[in-house]
Amino acid sequence: MSSLFSLTREKLAGHFLQIGQSKFRAEQVFDWVYRKGIYDISQMSNLSLPLRQELCSIFDTALPHEVKRQESKDGTVKFLFELEDHSKVESVLMRYDYGNVICLSSQVGCAMGCAFCASGLLKKERNLTAGEMIGQVLAVKEYLKPSFETLSHAVVMGTGEPFDNYDNVMDFVRILNDPKGIGMGARHITVSTCGIPDKIRRYGKEGLQINLAISLHAPNQEIRESLMPIARAYPLDELIPAVKDYIESSGRRVTFEYILLEGVNGSLQNADELSDLVRGMLAYVNLIPYNPVKEKPYRRSSKDKVKAFHDRLLKRGINATVRKEFGKDIDAACGQLRAKEKKVL
Ligand code: SAH
Repeated sequence: MSSLFSLTREKLAGHFLQIGQSKFRAEQVFDWVYRKGIYDISQMSNLSLPLRQELCSIFDTALPHEVKRQESKDGTVKFLFELEDHSKVESVLMRYDYGNVICLSSQVGCAMGCAFCASGLLKKERNLTAGEMIGQVLAVKEYLKPSFETLSHAVVMGTGEPFDNYDNVMDFVRILNDPKGIGMGARHITVSTCGIPDKIRRYGKEGLQINLAISLHAPNQEIRESLMPIARAYPLDELIPAVKDYIESSGRRVTFEYILLEGVNGSLQNADELSDLVRGMLAYVNLIPYNPVKEKPYRRSSKDKVKAFHDRLLKRGINATVRKEFGKDIDAACGQLRAKEKKVL
């Protein structure tokens, strides 16, 4: 059975037209699911009984099954969800002062194999459907309900490469952003990619106001190649022009993510190279303190070095911030998601 949560309002309207119903039914269903939080089709009382029965026989509306939950001292929560085929994915809830943010996964495992990241240790098993991504959002919203909290932001920065699952991720953001769907503001949604030029250009033409983050992590091709296999397929001199095209067609500022790895990419010379690389672009650099991964040789740069690198960028006229850290005590920080329980369950 296919998940009702996989369908954009437009696609659901198309389904209704096909079965001889008014496309307005899609709005009614969206209202039940995303506004009222009623997932049980049989309770959708403004649809006729036979229509409800028909929909029940076609669509599944189950939320992902939560198999484990870890709560951090800082309010961060890591969820392990089991999907219909028993695959497992993780999502993280972070409580910033400006709102609650979900970091969600877009694939089971990841094919990108970045040298520093835990998620790639699992290898990609499959793409998530839009419904499985929406399911993560709905499940976290349910978790927040008893404390009257809401979910204001979403980042597609969990396990997986979203642009390796482009169509499903686009349907997901459309449902999330749809004012008649979940209604999360486009500016509150961020998709993060390791850098796939044709998808970056396509994303710029979607007409969405959603944020784009690029995992850069290196100021030059040589270092980038040593960290990210994708850089061999799409070198910096192809990536940067694609990002420029994106900025041009979307008018949106991009974020360059840059993990500081001790002895690898954090020298002041690297800061200068990075400044030259991004100068003049409508962009800012988000410096990420590295979160150690047991199987990986990398270490995080010291606080002083992070500060020196940051200061140097600012001095060179580059907008830069240092990412706040969450959930370190529960392995929920960036690059630490890997659905470990896979092995024991
Ligand atoms: N595949 C996408 C999204 C997932 S990774 C991408 O590459 O952007 C989300 C961010 O966390 C990326 O910038 C990634 O490079 C970073 N990251 C991965 N491992 C990390 C680690 N151990 N410490 C800090 N950040 C990490």
